[in-house]
Amino acid sequence: IPDKEYDYIIVGGGTSGLTVANRLSEDHNVNVIVIEAGASVLNNSNVTDVGGYGLAFGTAIDWQYESVKQIYGGNSSQVLRAGRALSGTSAINGMAYTRAEDVQIDAWQAIGNDGWTWESLFPYYLKAENLTIPTVSQVELGATYNRAYHSETGPLDVAFTKTVNSTLLSLLNGTFQSLGVPWSEDVNGGKMRGLNICPSTINYQEYVREDAARAYYWPYASRGNLHVLLNTFVNHIELNRTASNDNVTASGVQVTYQNGTVGVINAKREVILSAGSLKSPGILELSGIGSRQVLEKYNIAVQVDLPSVGENLQDQVNTGMSGATTHKVTGHTALVYANAQDIFGNETETISTLVRDSLKDYASETAKANGGIMSADDLEDLFQVQYDLIFKDQIPIAEILYFPGGGNSLAAQYWGLLPFSRGSVHIASSDPLLKPIINPNYLMLDWDNKLQIGIAKLIRRSYETYPLRNLVKAESSPGLITVPQNASDAQWREWIVRHYRSNFHPVGTAAMMPREKGGVVSEHLVVYGTSNVRIVDASILPFQVDGHLVSTLYAVAERAADFIKQS
Ligand code: FAD
Repeated sequence: IPDKEYDYIIVGGGTSGLTVANRLSEDHNVNVIVIEAGASVLNNSNVTDVGGYGLAFGTAIDWQYESVKQIYGGNSSQVLRAGRALSGTSAINGMAYTRAEDVQIDAWQAIGNDGWTWESLFPYYLKAENLTIPTVSQVELGATYNRAYHSETGPLDVAFTKTVNSTLLSLLNGTFQSLGVPWSEDVNGGKMRGLNICPSTINYQEYVREDAARAYYWPYASRGNLHVLLNTFVNHIELNRTASNDNVTASGVQVTYQNGTVGVINAKREVILSAGSLKSPGILELSGIGSRQVLEKYNIAVQVDLPSVGENLQDQVNTGMSGATTHKVTGHTALVYANAQDIFGNETETISTLVRDSLKDYASETAKANGGIMSADDLEDLFQVQYDLIFKDQIPIAEILYFPGGGNSLAAQYWGLLPFSRGSVHIASSDPLLKPIINPNYLMLDWDNKLQIGIAKLIRRSYETYPLRNLVKAESSPGLITVPQNASDAQWREWIVRHYRSNFHPVGTAAMMPREKGGVVSEHLVVYGTSNVRIVDASILPFQVDGHLVSTLYAVAERAADFIKQS
């Protein structure tokens, strides 16, 4: 290490961390260090290969976190993947680039985060993005887009794949038109409903994955004030308090270097946690910021009693179906974003009333599950906002990916976008190297099951609707023997709990909300009770967003960097 003192320490060189590091180091008068547990993956073909989704799973660059047994989710433990590398999870993800529904970001302001709206975030989506404009033939084959929603000047390369192909798309389009779901010209303008093929985080020229390091670090690596320390694990933040009623101040972080030695790196201005939603809360807890109950269990002195650290964990449930086809399926992956009406049709009104009348119970069940750390009243307020998004604003609540399943098979991978179940992530020990205890409470609440079942039925309908019906001979998974045509919800549920997995979108574990409502960070992303610790990563999102996460995380990190510069 060239120096042991920096203006800004960024913990975690992932999606969000590298974005912040890049923007802060634009100012030559400050120096920035990024401390990353993993290594560089610049030349790792499991990362760079545009068609290589999944190759990195289970390798050294995958943290492979595991949940506790999911008592509502088939009593199985689930693997939650996350990238351990410079670039973080952007190095192993599916590269889909889709943002959020506009009113979802507006909801952040509605729950008390002043200044967070679609309108205020939109310029930051653009600041991050560099879209490779698709060719005329790509557009004709389905790569439609609206130029007003995109930028061609940001650091992050976004492009449609070279393999855009309309074979499957035109069948899906015909079928979904019949089912009342329109073609979406562009999902990235704040209105997401419809069928489309979305762009990806791809460097089109070199035709490799565009991860956070390719976008925000490597082209800037020669900056003298931007330092990256790889293979180094941050144990905790060093905190001081000058007077007993003051906020605590971070003076640096304790790290374990690759050779096992432990040291301290000092921060003159701020420590920014960007270790991801399954790790940032744990670093707070190991530093003495969190629930007294958790900290005392491991003999960690309480510096800031902030009970909701690690609570509010929201992930989605992912299930796959498939259809046996008349011939080999080729073509491009297509996405459907569907709303409640698309999924539940005539039953929407009844389900809407049922869910509305259940919000109080959902809130008290959730409060009971988290030991009352989040109060039932506060949860009910949050659930009401989410309910309104689902049933009043009618935003998409399902994402379905259709793609060739290999040979004579059409796959459909899907997830409910807005489940209500919330869980937690907490440290399992005072040893920072031990993995956390993760409990997403998958499928705990009735709505989450209804949603996952409703989407499965929509997929079944799609297989049975022309012109897709010409291709799909029969549904092969689950198939009508396992889940008959007139199956009850209980039969569907039984199949789902045996086959689901994490959707790998954990958010909310250090939620941006008012402190008295159970928030962990302020609207400027400062951890309550501290003067100079911020969190910038997926843990601050108070709710799920409809799109895949990175586009929104890059935008949030871009905005966070402005907050930091301004302060
Ligand atoms: P990360 O990018 O995970 O960064 C955290 C970094 O902190 C990591 O580099 C980690 O190694 C480091 N770190 C952790 N602990 C420590 C420590 N103690 N000391 C030092 N460093 C530490 N999103 C999309 O937009 N599109 C997709 O197609 C998509 N597909 C996905 C597929 C998979 C398999 C997965 C797992 C996720 C997918 N996502 C997708 C989600 C998205 O990639 C993540 O939500 C996002 O990258 C998370 O960014 P982050 O900044 O919160 O954390």
